[in-house]
Amino acid sequence: MTHLPDHMLNGYRNFITGRYVDDSARYRSLANEGQTPKVVIIACCDSRAAPEVIFDAGIGEMFVVRNVANLIPPYGPDGDFHSTSAALEFAVQALKVEHVVVMGHGRCGGIKAALDADFAPLSEGDFIGKWMSLVAPAAEAVAGNSLMTNGERQTALERISIRHSVANLRSFPYIRAREESGELSLHGCWFDISTGELWVMNTETGDFERPDLGNGSSD
Ligand SMILES: [Zn+2]
Repeated sequence: MTHLPDHMLNGYRNFITGRYVDDSARYRSLANEGQTPKVVIIACCDSRAAPEVIFDAGIGEMFVVRNVANLIPPYGPDGDFHSTSAALEFAVQALKVEHVVVMGHGRCGGIKAALDADFAPLSEGDFIGKWMSLVAPAAEAVAGNSLMTNGERQTALERISIRHSVANLRSFPYIRAREESGELSLHGCWFDISTGELWVMNTETGDFERPDLGNGSSD
């Protein structure tokens, strides 16, 4: 029998004798009463941009969906397999979350691949190529802009794709309906893994701005 890597087992030992003990009452109550997160967040698979870490979230606080480059595909009830849409459906319709947050990040490998005309498929299936074709028109426009540096193009497409994903959220009838009735808010944000900065999308202009963190009082 093969074993999990030692560092994982060591990490689990730390968890079960530390955080799990500290949070045991909360785990019990969440187990008995079910989860009631107010937020669903769609983030990238990137190991450097973990939403629970960035937002200092405890157990049961955020329903997290992660996919390559944090993309929301348009609503497409075509009988195919749609993991992100399935997670959104559960979060919005069953859990009745109040916020949907699309979080992108700097130095995103998926976005880099979308900008690279010479990107070669990593396997015969080319799942990344197919998935990233969701942002192909924007990627072509940004890649062709010779006024920007590579870094600027990368950041631009990371942010444009967040705006696209938020727009695609509204193609889901029940998401649009709940937003219009004021029961659901849609948000975008972008995390800079090199500085730790968080930039939040202004929902009126689409621009990304540094949030006012105030004096640390909770909301
Ligand atoms: Zn990424």
